[in-house]
Amino acid sequence: MPESTTIIEVAIPLHVETIFHYLVPERLAHLVRTGKRVLVPFGRRKLTGYIIGKAGSAKGDLREIIDILDQEPLFTARELEFLRWTAGYYLYPLGEVLKGALPAGINIESRMKSTMSADGASVNEEVLTGGKQVKTAVFLRYVGADAPTKALKGKRAHVVEFLKEAGEAPAAVLRREFGADSAMLKGLQEQGYIVGEEREVYRDPFREEVFDRDLPLHLNMAQEDALVRINAAADKGSFAPFLLHGVTGSGKTEVYLQAISHILAQGRSSLVLVPEIALTPQLVKRFKRRFTCGIAVLHSGLSDGERFDEWRRIRRGEAAIVIGARSAVFAPLERIGMIVVDEEHDASYKQSEGLRYNARDLALVRGKMEHACVLLGSATPLVTTFHAAQEGKLGYLHLPERVRGLPMPVVELIDGRGRKGETFLPEMTAALENNISQGGQALLFINRRGFATFLICGECGHVLNCPNCSVTLTYHRRKERHYCHYCEYSIPAPSLCAACQSPDITLLGRGTERVEEEARALFPTARISRMDRDTTRGRGGHARILRGLEDGTIDILIGTQMIAKGHDFPGVTLVGVVSADATLNLPDFRSAERTFQLITQVMGRAGRGDAPGRVVVQSLAPEHYAITRAVSHDFAGFYAEELEFRREAAYPPFSHLAALVFSGNSTAEVEKGGGEAARLLLKTKQELKSRVEILGPAAAPLAKIRGRYRWQILLKSALRKDLHRLLGTFRERLKLPAVVRLSIDIDPVDML
Ligand code: ADP
Ligand code: ZN
Ligand code: ZN
Repeated sequence: MPESTTIIEVAIPLHVETIFHYLVPERLAHLVRTGKRVLVPFGRRKLTGYIIGKAGSAKGDLREIIDILDQEPLFTARELEFLRWTAGYYLYPLGEVLKGALPAGINIESRMKSTMSADGASVNEEVLTGGKQVKTAVFLRYVGADAPTKALKGKRAHVVEFLKEAGEAPAAVLRREFGADSAMLKGLQEQGYIVGEEREVYRDPFREEVFDRDLPLHLNMAQEDALVRINAAADKGSFAPFLLHGVTGSGKTEVYLQAISHILAQGRSSLVLVPEIALTPQLVKRFKRRFTCGIAVLHSGLSDGERFDEWRRIRRGEAAIVIGARSAVFAPLERIGMIVVDEEHDASYKQSEGLRYNARDLALVRGKMEHACVLLGSATPLVTTFHAAQEGKLGYLHLPERVRGLPMPVVELIDGRGRKGETFLPEMTAALENNISQGGQALLFINRRGFATFLICGECGHVLNCPNCSVTLTYHRRKERHYCHYCEYSIPAPSLCAACQSPDITLLGRGTERVEEEARALFPTARISRMDRDTTRGRGGHARILRGLEDGTIDILIGTQMIAKGHDFPGVTLVGVVSADATLNLPDFRSAERTFQLITQVMGRAGRGDAPGRVVVQSLAPEHYAITRAVSHDFAGFYAEELEFRREAAYPPFSHLAALVFSGNSTAEVEKGGGEAARLLLKTKQELKSRVEILGPAAAPLAKIRGRYRWQILLKSALRKDLHRLLGTFRERLKLPAVVRLSIDIDPVDML
């Protein structure tokens, strides 16, 4: 092998951990750069891989790459370092991590296509598909300075006059405004009045134009203190993580905006992560009003084309601010000076399948690599975050009061025990009546969608369950069907028990649909709306409902946790929590924390305007600390109590967790696979003299989802390092039957 031969390391998106080595033929050698994609032979297939580095030498017979697919690298060296860290930490193949970090539209898939050759033989040919098209548009420009425009009449004259004035315009605009068809535009070009040019354009996911500007607000003392500390850290240019703990309505967003302004002035960029943008159109608007720089938006509601375009704008440095949901933590943004994680407690930062990353945690990792400030903002930070702040691992910034001296809402806790049959207890009805008569808006929260949560037979006790999942079916009245909320299954509402044919069947439990129906019966003249997954399907569904709150055409909005998230509607004077207990009874060590956060967040939607806010909470567990602490706005008390529980049970922050979930179509195989894995873990643990605690295997609380049986093993460790060491060795040795799948969840958030 000649000295000059280039060998590259290639990560391939396959479920293998290995990095592959390939030779680069002479003709391609000058194009090799880390971060570009390559087409490589793999077995008998051709696959797309990513160049992750050059290798000095490699053993064995190496094959040559077929082609280099990009002109410019898709990843910078620093991004690659971050993605490698991610792959290592979450024990996920690097090739898959790299592929997942790219917008779906960019990924090129190759497949075999059979074609007929000239002599009639069938030939298998490789074709590359995917790779979103760059969108272009024709722009027309006035050039006919000397041509006599007087000779033109009608539409043609209007078009030329307009272009003379405006300089240039896209053909689509001329078509819309003047009815100029392509024949007319072609004619004008031939006559020398105008010239056309085809140019690349971006699809714009933010349809709403923003014209009005918004100036920085005069900060109150607490905001000012926070900003001073953040700016001081930003000026040092080293990694500085903060918890911005501010009660609901304390002006956290204003602090983000001004801190980002400082970062932009340094010529650095900012990444803003939010739980789900579709839920917070207000926030994007606020950024657009404040900043004139390029702002890119990334979230799950974008089409592949829009996402591809936003990605390219960012890659080219045309956006200094990126606002996005969890996957935006991988945005190709350079020179990052600030990463904001808004509502850092939100569980949607965790990806629940595939690469099970947590964007909140990765924000800290990426911030460290970028020497950036990281702001974790919340009114209800995670118990683990608050603990880290107490330990001095995060700077603690506190906004203890609402802006403009607005009071926290007044809260009443209503004991629902013994009155289970009623959706609205008399206190709640009276509060709603009163609120309507005063012209205020109300939010009603219930954490379940649908009408009734289950159907039970009074004769034999049979409950209507999903055949594919271990959950009950939820009745949806509008559709007259029972639905599974985990899979696609649904059936028409039966009139007899499926087990004993008795007609004595009863719907129990309530969801948003039922609350809506009862509210309409109680308040026939009120304008009532509902916001949950069923009413917000389709693009702009959330925004439409939220606009109703904004322009005062909704008196009562009923909804799931969607209504709890970060909205700022000054007209909301009453928040009613119809039921807060559903989350409390889940077999998950975070159930108290979740309940506390949820209630505090919904309560926080009340009284953000000039009229004071009122909250009514109905509960069947009115003595539970999650509820009593929430209704008395007692964060410190809740955290102290919750931390005590975590310490005793050795849950995070006093341990690190990993969940191993085994799943398959055969319960016996899954149980057997889980058992063998547990024995191997135990053996490996003894060999390594590891102190990791192994719990299980046991059937998962949700023992079956989508027809797959699930068993799990939970690993608990005081040190992260021990956990990874044990899992690393275990994975190398593990041989599971093909019918059993293992997914490893590092720092699991959902324990069901
Ligand atoms: P949070 O994110 O903490 O819930 P926001 O940042 O949304 O709070 O602020 C709540 C409201 O208060 C917004 O309408 C915002 O414009 C306003 N606000 C924020 N800071 C100030 C301030 N210093 N003075 C007056 N109003 C403010
Ligand atoms: Zn029955
Ligand atoms: Zn199901």
